[in-house]
Amino acid sequence: MDTLIATIDPNYPDPEIIQRAGDVIRSGGLVAFPTETVYGLGGDALSADSAAAIYAAKGRPSDNPLIVHIADMASLERIAVDIPDAVYLLARRFWPGPLTMIMHKSDEVPHATTGGLDTVAVRFPSDPVAREFIRAAGGYVAAPSANLSGKPSPTSAGYVIQDMDGRIDMILCGDDSRIGLESTIVDLTEAAPVILRPGYVTLDMLREILPDVTMDTALIRDDSGQAPKAPGMKYRHYAPRGEMTVVDGTARDVITYINERTQHDSKEGRRTGVIASDEHLDRYRADVKLGMGADGDSETYAHRLFDTLRHMDDEEVERIYAERPAGGMLDDAIMNRLLKAAGHTLVSV
Ligand code: AMP
Ligand code: MG
Repeated sequence: MDTLIATIDPNYPDPEIIQRAGDVIRSGGLVAFPTETVYGLGGDALSADSAAAIYAAKGRPSDNPLIVHIADMASLERIAVDIPDAVYLLARRFWPGPLTMIMHKSDEVPHATTGGLDTVAVRFPSDPVAREFIRAAGGYVAAPSANLSGKPSPTSAGYVIQDMDGRIDMILCGDDSRIGLESTIVDLTEAAPVILRPGYVTLDMLREILPDVTMDTALIRDDSGQAPKAPGMKYRHYAPRGEMTVVDGTARDVITYINERTQHDSKEGRRTGVIASDEHLDRYRADVKLGMGADGDSETYAHRLFDTLRHMDDEEVERIYAERPAGGMLDDAIMNRLLKAAGHTLVSV
C-alpha cells in the first residue's frame, strides 16, 4: 500500500489536508495523526471493518479494545448510554485533554471496536490537528497508539513513518507529542471510579473532582496476582531489546552501582546504556548516556521516555540501567511505563 505522508502545521492545519484525511476514514481507510499524548492510528470507530484493519496494521490482538476519540461533548451521547454525572464533572475539568473515560456503550459502537466488551473508552483530545481531523472524519475515530505492537508508543512523526509506512493510507506529520505518555484511563462503570492506567492526569487531580477515585491495585503491585482491568495492560508491553534494570537509592549509591555494572558489562564486551537525570550524566561511564531532564522534572522525563527507549534499541545497547526518577507529579505514570520496559527488574542499593 502507498502511504500518503502529509506534513501539517499544528497551528494552522491546512483544511485540504484535513479534509483528505477525513475522507480516508469515511471510506474505511486508516490515518495516523498527532495528539497531545502520543500519535494515534485512526479508523472509523463505528465500523467493525475499520477496527479489524487497525488491529491488522498494528499486529495487535483483537481482544484489546480501542479508544474512541471525539471532538465535542455533543458526540458522546451517540456512543455511550447510562452516562453517570461523574463523566460530565470530569469532562468539565479535563476535556479536551489526556483523560480517557470508560462508560457503557450504545449499540452504535461495534464489539470489534471494544474488543468484545459492552463498555467503551472515550477521549476528547485537545490537540488542534486531532480535533479538526476527527470532525472531518465524521466525529468518531477509534485509535490506539500508532506503533507496531511491541514497540514503544510513537512521540514523533518519524517513528510513525518507521512503523506504519506502507501499512496504512495516510500519515499526518505534526509536532512531537507535547506530553509523550498515553492518556490516563478511568473506569466509570463501577460503583466507585478506578484508574486503569496512570497518565498525565494524576490520581490527586482526579480526586479533586471525585474524592473516591482509586488506582487499580493490579497496577500498583506486579505480584498482586490480579488481572488488570484494562485488557491492554495484561499484554507484555514494550521492552527494549537490551536487558533493562531500574536502580533505586541515594544518588551516590545509584551512580556507584551502575558504574560497577557497566564496567563489568564492558569487560564482557557488551554495549551499555544509562538513563539518568541531566545533572548526573557526566558521572556515568557507558557507551550511550541519555539525559531525562532535571532531577524531579517529571514532565520532561515523560516527554523523553519513549524516545529514549527507542534510541537504546537503535544504538543496539545490550545492558540498560535507569536511575529511578526522583518523583514529581507524573511519578505513577512514569514508573508504570518504566517498570514495564524493565520487565519489573528493580534493584534497591
Ligand atoms: P492504546 O490504544 O494503545 O492507548 O491502549 C488503549 C488502552 O485502553 C488498552 O490498555 C485497553 O485495554 C484500554 N481500554 C480500551 N477500552 C477499554 C474498555 N472498554 N475497558 C477497559 N479498558 C479499555
Ligand atoms: Mg499502545
